Amino acid sequence: MDQTKIDALRAQPIAAFDHLIGGKRIPASDGGRMCIISPIDGTVLTTTAAGTSSDMETAIASARAAFEDGRWASQPPAERKKVLLKWADLIDANALELAVLGVRDNGTEIGMALKAEPGSAAATIRYYAEALDKIYGEIAPTAGDILGMIHKEPVGVVGAIIPWNFPMMVGAWKLGPALAMGNSIVLKPAETASLSLMRMAELALEAGLPPGVLNAVTGEGRVVGKALALSMDVDVLVFTGSGATGRRLMEYAARSNMKRVYLELGGKSPNIVFADAPNLDEAAQVAASGIFRNAGQVCVAGSRLLVEASIHDEFVAAVTKASEAMRVGDPLKVDTHIGAVNSEVQLKANLGFVETATAEGGQVVTGGVRMLEETGGYYMAPTIVTDVTRNSTLAQKEVFGPVLGVTRFASEKEAISLANSTVYGLAGAAWTTNLSRAHRMVNAVRTGVMHINTYGGADGTVPLGGVGQSGNGSDKSLHAIEKYVNLKTAWIKL
Ligand code: ADP
Repeated sequence: MDQTKIDALRAQPIAAFDHLIGGKRIPASDGGRMCIISPIDGTVLTTTAAGTSSDMETAIASARAAFEDGRWASQPPAERKKVLLKWADLIDANALELAVLGVRDNGTEIGMALKAEPGSAAATIRYYAEALDKIYGEIAPTAGDILGMIHKEPVGVVGAIIPWNFPMMVGAWKLGPALAMGNSIVLKPAETASLSLMRMAELALEAGLPPGVLNAVTGEGRVVGKALALSMDVDVLVFTGSGATGRRLMEYAARSNMKRVYLELGGKSPNIVFADAPNLDEAAQVAASGIFRNAGQVCVAGSRLLVEASIHDEFVAAVTKASEAMRVGDPLKVDTHIGAVNSEVQLKANLGFVETATAEGGQVVTGGVRMLEETGGYYMAPTIVTDVTRNSTLAQKEVFGPVLGVTRFASEKEAISLANSTVYGLAGAAWTTNLSRAHRMVNAVRTGVMHINTYGGADGTVPLGGVGQSGNGSDKSLHAIEKYVNLKTAWIKL
């Protein structure tokens, strides 16, 4: 990464963003604007359209029209593939510009942002582009006078509501498979971090995606997000975000057209370290980065550290050392390890969790405080709280910030019981050299992704989806495609 190039990009003013509807940039119908605040220094970066429910209806109508006339869905798969591959290339060609734009409104450290945002988004789009002309229907095993066929049809209009922590990566997880299968889309980026995703959507048009196939509406979740979820003309709603909003989306679907709703929600993922871990120093480093990168604003973050009692003190000391060595600061400096918390609201909520944890008997061994307040930005020291008990707030509620809770266990049985003691089930890890125990842990921990002797880094070839109140359905891999197709049976008497 070239610091000079990054500095030049960050010095550029950012033009105001409007909605993208029918291939055109369109302001809000009532002229409303929203200020976008930089978490780096608290300044106003630019404005986006503050959408109305009528803007959302216009975007849905645009997507519906594009779907019905087949301008995308009826194109030969090879043509759709060409457009999506070109889009991935354009994302790659503009990677640094997109990454810096994204960091300016969401605060992720640039090293991670470059890899996880344009890097991963381009790879995801490319993966589904390459897959789309290799997906076949089926012929059923019937009697000789019957032909039973199973077609995979696009569902129609897909609504996608995206969070602020990784807008491009998560956006691509939805857009890639949905567009590959021929659907039209209405995208609703998060209030505080929409810029990079809006720019990425514009690049799709440049790549040749027909106007109207991908529409994007900015604004408040409770206005435009709600209108999308309540629409009678959206067939599938896909969402990544909080449990509270996920619950509302299911209600909105039930109150409107019973659209299919797929949710990727929060987690309280257990990172379980046994005394027989292969390398405790490495495990400590990974435990720290597994919770503190992107200031803990990662749905799969290993936010609960469960440590075998015999190594507890030694291991906590190693994780503390690794955490204190991580540099917190300006996310656009290439040597920063932990960038800004996305908003002041989020920062206050994080600090509140630490206060509650202390009141409930937790010991703060490092961090627990705001940092660099003089910059005007929202920074928090990586925080480790020990003596976190099974039912305490920090063990049960997702913080979505740089706060690690530590609990000790005496046996494998207790570790499993602690791991499964929340309503969530998104990710987890176990560190052990015992092969049988490793497999037992994979089977026993109720979660969508279970790591062994590592944390994070699962690529696009494997699904990511939660169980319990972490959600349903999967992003990534060929399995994600199932969300964006209907199975249609043709039963033909010969
Ligand atoms: P967070 O609390 O971390 O911001 P949210 O779940 O509120 O997480 O936000 C994720 C996405 O959901 C954002 O795009 C936001 O605008 C959207 N959203 C929030 N509230 C609603 C709602 N009532 N209906 C639809 N979308 C919403």
